[in-house]
Parts: sequence; C-alpha cells; structure tokens
Amino acid sequence: MTDSKNTNAETSPQETPSVHDKTIINKMRTLIAALKTHNNAYYVLDNPILEDSEYDQLRLSLIKIEEQYPDLVQPDSPINTVGDIPLSAFTQVTHDIPMLSLGNVFEYDDLRDFMRRVNDRLSDAQKNPEYEVELKLDGLAVSLKYQHGKFIQAVTRGDGQTGEDITQNTKTIRNLPLYLIDAADIELLEVRGEVLMPKAGFERLNRLAEEKEEKTFANPRNAAAGSLRQLDPAVAASRPLAFYAYSVNQGLPERIDTQSDALAWLGDIGFSVSAVRVVKNPRETQEYYESVIEKRAKLPFEIDGTVIKVNNLALQQQLGYLSREPRWATAYKFPAETVMTRLHSIEWQVGRTGAITPVGKLEPVKVGGVTVSNVTLHNFGEIQRLDVRAGDMVSVHRAGDVIPKISRVWHDQRPADSQPAVLPENCPVCDSPVILPEDEALARCTGGLFCPAQQQEALIHFVSRRAMDIDGLGERWLISFFEQGLVKTVADIYQLHNHQEQMITFEKMGEKSVQNIIKAIEASKHTTLSRFIYALGIRGVGEGTAQNFTQQFGDLERLMTADIETLIQTPDVGTITAELAYEFFRAPHNIEVINALLAAGVYWDKVEKKSSSHLPLDGQTWVITGALSSMARDEAKAKLQALGAKVSGSISAKTTALLAGEKAGSKMAKAEKLGVKVVGEDEFLGMVGE
Ligand code: NAD
Repeated sequence: MTDSKNTNAETSPQETPSVHDKTIINKMRTLIAALKTHNNAYYVLDNPILEDSEYDQLRLSLIKIEEQYPDLVQPDSPINTVGDIPLSAFTQVTHDIPMLSLGNVFEYDDLRDFMRRVNDRLSDAQKNPEYEVELKLDGLAVSLKYQHGKFIQAVTRGDGQTGEDITQNTKTIRNLPLYLIDAADIELLEVRGEVLMPKAGFERLNRLAEEKEEKTFANPRNAAAGSLRQLDPAVAASRPLAFYAYSVNQGLPERIDTQSDALAWLGDIGFSVSAVRVVKNPRETQEYYESVIEKRAKLPFEIDGTVIKVNNLALQQQLGYLSREPRWATAYKFPAETVMTRLHSIEWQVGRTGAITPVGKLEPVKVGGVTVSNVTLHNFGEIQRLDVRAGDMVSVHRAGDVIPKISRVWHDQRPADSQPAVLPENCPVCDSPVILPEDEALARCTGGLFCPAQQQEALIHFVSRRAMDIDGLGERWLISFFEQGLVKTVADIYQLHNHQEQMITFEKMGEKSVQNIIKAIEASKHTTLSRFIYALGIRGVGEGTAQNFTQQFGDLERLMTADIETLIQTPDVGTITAELAYEFFRAPHNIEVINALLAAGVYWDKVEKKSSSHLPLDGQTWVITGALSSMARDEAKAKLQALGAKVSGSISAKTTALLAGEKAGSKMAKAEKLGVKVVGEDEFLGMVGE
C-alpha cells in the first residue's frame, strides 16, 4: 500500500495537474465571458441573444465545473450574482434589503428535495410547514416605496444591491396605485412585485413596431423591461404595462403572519395580485403546478412557472438566505421549450411515395417535458438553409404538441473535422438512383416499383380501379399477402396462382375467394397502354398524363427510351414530370419489374394514334371551375388535353366551354354572361367515355 502511494506521488509530476487545471480554468473563463455577455444583453440592454433555456444550460455547465473543482472557482464568476450592473443613465439607489433571485426546480423529485432541505433546517415541531404557491410572473422585479400611503419611489432589482430609480416611468403604469387604501398610518411601506406586459399589449406593440419598421422585442419580459427603462416617460406611458405585487418587505402590519394573508392584504389596499394557493405537501404543490400548466395559454400574461414559498413569515426569517436566493422559496419552472443538444448524425429516410427526407439523430434531450432523440429536417434545402452538419450543437424547439425542430445551429461550436451533409446519390433502402428535380424541395428514390419502402404503396396503386383494376384483390388482402411475403413487387401479383394453397390458409379466405382473386388477376392482363403507364405509379404521372404519353409515343418501348427533351414534347408534361419519368425508366430494378409483368402476360391492344381529326376537341379552349366529384381538376385538365383541347384559367369570349363542378362561383356567372357553353361533370364523363 505504502509503496503504491509513493509510486503514485513520484509518477505524478507537478505539471500534470497544472496543465489540467489550466484546461479547466480556460473552460470556466470561456463560460464566464459568455454568461457576462448574455447577462448584459438580457438585464442591461433588454435584448437577449439566447433563449432562456439555452442561457440556463450554459450557466449549469459552469455550476457543474465549479462544483467539481471548488478550488478553481474564478473570483468574478457570475454564478452567485443577481442580474447585472444597472445602466448609469438612471439614478442609482441602494436597496434597504437586497433584492435576490430565486433558486429553481424543474421536476417533482427536485421539488421534494427542496422541501426536504427546508425540513432539515426546522425543528421537529416545525417540519412539513404549509407552503403558498404563486404564479411566476415573467416580467421584472421592482421595489415600490409608499410613505403614509403615497407612492414615492420605484427601483429596479439591478444587481440585487443597487438598482435604478424608475419612479417617473412607473407612475405611468395604469394599475399601480399612487395612493393606497387605509395605509396612511404606515410610515414606510416597501412592496415588491413584477412589472409585466400583458400578451395582447405585447403583440400590439410589436405589430406597431413592425409597421414602422422599428426593432421588435423578443418577448413580453424584455418589452416590459425595455419600456420601464425608457429615458422618456412619455414613451413609457404609451406602453401597456401592469404591476402585480408579491411581497411586503417593510411596513407589514404585525397582525399579518403569513405570505398568503400578506397578499390578501395587498389586494385590499389597492394592488393587483395574481392567483395564490396554499398547499400542505409536494403532491398538492404538484397538482397545482399541473393545473397552472393547463391554464397557462389562457392567462392574459406570460408566466414561466410557479413560485413556492414557506407560508409562515417567521419561518421564512428563520430559514434565511443564501447569497443569491432565499432558502424558503423556489421557482418550479415549466419545462424548457428550447434546449441545446448535439446532432449526432443525419439519416435519410424513404417515405411510402419515395420522398427522401433527412432525419436528425440527437443526443436525447428533454424538450417541453418530453425526451426527444429525432428531429425532422424536412428536406435537403432545409439542411442547407440551416447550414447544419452532423456533430453540430443545435437548439431544439418544441412547443405544445408540435414536432420538434432545430431552431438554431451553434456554428461557433462546430467540431473542426465536421463535413457538410450530402444528399445520397442512391436510395438508402433499395440503392436506386436518387434525384432532386430542379425547383423541387424533395429528393426522390427512382426505384418506385422495387424499393421496399415504396412497395406497399405501389401495390395498392397498381391494383386500383383506374389502374389495372384487379377487382377481387382488395387492399386488405394485398397488404396481408405483402406482409406474409407472398408478393413484393407488382409483378409478383401475376405469380399468385402458384401460391393458392398458402392463400387459403389466410383467415376468412375460402377457396371461392382465392378463385375469384386469381380470375380477377387473369382478367386484368388485358389492359390498355395508358392504364398500364398509370399503374406503374411514376411520380407526377396521373391518368391524364398517362393518356397523353400513350398518344405521344404510341408504344411502351418508345416511351421508356425517350430522352427528357422528347418527353417534354408531350402535352401537359413539364420538366419535373419529364425528369421523374426519365429516371424511372433508367432504374434497372424498375425495368426488371416491367419485364416480369410483360413476361407474365400483361398486354394491351395496339394504340390507335388519334390524328387531329380524331381529336374531337382540337382547337377548342376549355376552362374548369368548381369541385369535381369523380376526379381532381388536374386529371380533368389532362383528359381535355388528351382530346385536343387547350385548358385556360380564365373565361373570355373565346372560351369554347366551361366544365363546371359543384359550387361553381364567379366563372359560372361570367360564362353565362358571355354566353359560353357550360358542361356539367356527368356530361363531361360521357364525352370522355367514362
Ligand atoms: P428568475 O426570473 O428565474 O427568478 C427570480 C425572479 O422571479 C424574481 O426576481 C422576480 O422578479 C420573479 N418573480 C416572478 N413572480 C414571482 C413571485 N410570485 N414571487 C417572487 N418572485 C417572482 O431569476 P432572474 O435572476 O431574474 O433571472 C434568471 C432568468 O433570466 C433565467 O430564466 C434566465 O434564463 C434568464 N436570463 C436569460 C438570459 C438570456 O440571455 N436569455 C440572460 C440572463 C438571464
């Protein structure tokens, strides 16, 4: 034992701890510098750079290091200070009694720890005292003095010892009593409370500022602080401020011995006081806290938690103070809605329709009370807009039920070796090429018929009425067959006759149903080219476009080998659809599936190319209006174009006909006025042969 101790002493040269200490001190100094900057921005300039929770996390990092290395705590550490040094523009006033901050808890267990710590300092008879719970108003603390019931002075909290004299501005607060009721015999009364800006007033103020292209405030708290510390009282007077009292620090009548009675008395003498509840134990405190969370959104002002105070004023005095906060009170804060964490990686997911979306994998973190480990990044453009990389520190925001998202990327904390994210060239599921058409936000996998992520959707679309119309093979059976591995690609449907024995084993599937399904599949083999093209489920190729492709190319081979330029010649086909179709026919696995379909016996009659004499609507101009019940407007448009018509967005005397669905509005009236023929949906379906 002695030996090993000696060895340790000998092999631990003096420099090792000091280099280590230097690293720790450097870390502390960086955090101190950051906290000082943010304190100044928040308390002095009323213009925070960070979300409160982000600031709290920085502060917590410093607290943790200081707890671990108490010998290295820096003399100017801001951990035990309150606020910041006040602006010199106002007269400085030293508080008779320091104005401190509050400790805080975020979880039920921490709340119980707080109550346990209180109990530890009380005698057995005093243990488990009554608590009083108030709303934690999100404004700024102000001390008011009244002489014989007359308002004489208001001072901000400042750095806790010295604040700014804001008497003139405070006088303009509408609900602040300048004369108190029944308080003339109190020589000096000091009341503390919160000046805040109600939500409605805050929104109005920011709207006005926006209209005038002036700076807006980050939140009601900063707006209240900024307004109170206006050098021009006329500006302060125009701001919608309110004052809520929460303590009497000098001059309380002796008969009052609890915080709850003190607040009731404040209400009696003319102050506004917010909701109060007296509780007996952690459970009741928690229940009230949760009921406040539910009411939070409906309150006229912002709150950021509840404040729990030992109710008996003598016990408060007995418990006393730490350097920054009282021992007899704590804030029970609401869960932070914006939290910093690390983005470990960016993964790409393939949706049922082939959309490739990036998902951020986070170091799990609690946001808004819920643990979050994934965050949506929407699309590749969003990654570029945020300039986010795997390895970055990010702020994650989640309010209410909204899906968490990255609200900020901490570029200054970016690891030196991080790399920009790249859009994968191949689908992470099926390895087919990925394309991002110009002007499109979403990248897509081109392996529509093959990609396992898209197969289920592809199968459902393939058998649908307007596609291959395989009647007896409903969605429910199809999904069951898919889940049991009987079909993967759409071509496997035509091999189902080889699995009839297996099909019968499915629940509620009789021999008759199997026969019907096989028959329907067989019948579907004889189809039309345009149905077949539509059934392939190429992105952007609806029924109408499929008909137009059929007319344009006449056979499948020509369509499949056409280049983008040629595809664009098709009516109603723009660059995006052309590109998507082109890539679809380049993905080798799609070709395999198409070949398997043809090999299984799918066929269609030769396409009769319609010459313009076969285009019954050639030379006509149509307009579509109202809601059509049997198809989307785009489909109707493509059908009209397939028949040779031009489709326009507005009615004029040159319009041939108006296709009018339900609730046709002004276009209908205009058509009637101009004498343009109106065609109903049924008539139109008859015209196009459906
Ligand atoms: P605090 O707001 O957490 O708690 C103390 C204050 O609560 C009191 O001074 C008082 O003004 C207020 N309060 C509201 N209702 C009360 C009630 N019913 N009874 C008693 N007090 C009540 O503490 P703080 O020291 O003012 O400031 C710390 C807060 O400021 C933290 O939330 C921190 O995130 C934020 N901050 C943010 C930044 C930033 O850059 N975003 C910088 C500094 C501080």
